[in-house]
Amino acid sequence: MQIRILLIVAAMAGLLISCQRMASKKVIPASITYLTREAWGANPPVLPMRSHTLTRLTIHHTATRQLPEKTLGDKMRSLQKFSQAESLLADGRMKPAWADIPYHLYVDVNGEVGQGRDIMYAGDSNTAYDPAGHLLVVVEGNFEEEELTQKQMKTLHLLVPALAKRYKIPADSIATHKDYAQTACPGKKLYTEVGQLQQLVRKQAD
Ligand SMILES: [Zn+2]
Repeated sequence: MQIRILLIVAAMAGLLISCQRMASKKVIPASITYLTREAWGANPPVLPMRSHTLTRLTIHHTATRQLPEKTLGDKMRSLQKFSQAESLLADGRMKPAWADIPYHLYVDVNGEVGQGRDIMYAGDSNTAYDPAGHLLVVVEGNFEEEELTQKQMKTLHLLVPALAKRYKIPADSIATHKDYAQTACPGKKLYTEVGQLQQLVRKQAD
């Protein structure tokens, strides 16, 4: 009898988890090409992660040059490999091994979106701020020097309002990495776009 109850509870928990997965998949607007973890062949997380409740959306850049000739799948796999290993950073500091990709969503140079860390878990950072509660969106490029592509712009204009709506994130809580930590991220050319993204979120809330 008790075993039967246990089985029912386990089945219900499984259903709940798959519903949450579906919800995070459905939140990406249909016109955006979306590569799930399954589609790019993600490895499982290598360490435990902290679950969190989303209250903010925070934008980053990869700080590396845009790579139009590489596929999104290749980029996700190499980002995961870098993320899950301990490695030496450009500034000489050591980065510890992280459970997984530190960001939840990756917007590539063609405006396609790759699924990073499961949105239900807090991300990671090399800088002194706690990313718990932040939905982390990273945009491919070094926006201190490079411009966003039209396709990246178009994706952000659709994606950010959709995420804000789904996770009830107010316009004022749409910000960037440098609003929380000592960093140039997301670069000055992406930083100036944030006002427009907040506008779009504000408009849909009216
Ligand atoms: Zn950043």
